[in-house]
Amino acid sequence: MREIYSCLEDYDLAIDDFILESQTFPVIQEDPTGTCPYCQKPSAYRLTAMPGGIVPPPQEMQDEKEIDG
Ligand SMILES: [Zn+2]
Repeated sequence: MREIYSCLEDYDLAIDDFILESQTFPVIQEDPTGTCPYCQKPSAYRLTAMPGGIVPPPQEMQDEKEIDG
């Protein structure tokens, strides 16, 4: 699963990147264990995909069976 860390200042950049990449809104959780990729400071937040937030594209493929007769 895609996740993005961000510091206190860059979380709006992180949200933009997250939405661009994942096409869904992130859940923002406090997580100081990572590194902000924008300024290399310790992270404050971690953005992850919402569970069940990604709706799979509709699949309307129908198998046509050939019946030999
Ligand atoms: Zn930052």
